[in-house]
Amino acid sequence: MSLADLFPTLTLEKSQRRSIAIGVYSDDRITVRAPLRVSLRDIERFVIEKTPWIQKRLEHNRRHREKFPPMTCKEGDSILYLGQDYRLTLLKEKKQKVWLDQNQLCLSLKQDSAPKETVIKLLHQWFKAQATDILQDRVDLYAPLIPKPFKGIRFRRMKSRWGSCSYHGELCFNWLLIMAPIEVVDYVVIHELCHLVHHNHSQKFWNLVHTYMPDYKQHKEWLKQHGNRLMLGSGK
Ligand SMILES: [Zn+2]
Repeated sequence: MSLADLFPTLTLEKSQRRSIAIGVYSDDRITVRAPLRVSLRDIERFVIEKTPWIQKRLEHNRRHREKFPPMTCKEGDSILYLGQDYRLTLLKEKKQKVWLDQNQLCLSLKQDSAPKETVIKLLHQWFKAQATDILQDRVDLYAPLIPKPFKGIRFRRMKSRWGSCSYHGELCFNWLLIMAPIEVVDYVVIHELCHLVHHNHSQKFWNLVHTYMPDYKQHKEWLKQHGNRLMLGSGK
């Protein structure tokens, strides 16, 4: 028996780490990280022991996909923006543009139909522009409250992170975050700003987050529950 017999999507990564850890991602990839010295038999035993938990995570993914089918970038698709669902409406006009109209996210194209890639590209440009504005705004709102200044701010699409703060005070935000409700956006902004003071997730760090956002736990939980809905087109 091998690890792939247990779960075909399982990969093993060995490194200098101290203990075995297992992760199940929203695309069903399973990663086992193990210390170099641990034998394959021990790893297998660990995976078998964790099988009920893995299956629970896979089942959660399946239910989530059923509830929120992946976006096809077609007319009528549901798209999240600041925590609200908008219906994608494709129109034909002289100029290509994207705008919100009540509960619709309208996208005009120069031709009757466009390949999915064009639609995704236009949506990405629009979301990134909105995110840059809004995130910059929220950082400007909260940064003066934090005793340490930040050096710079960037916006990127990241695979599995919503934000980061480097040791030198460079902030980086995933612009897909703008799909989440504004309170969740604020939580990530405050979280990263608090890293300017504490470069870790110690109790002191969480206490500081709590001073600026006493109900941060519910927004952290929102990201955990709905994080995999924050994507546009195929994959993140
Ligand atoms: Zn953090």
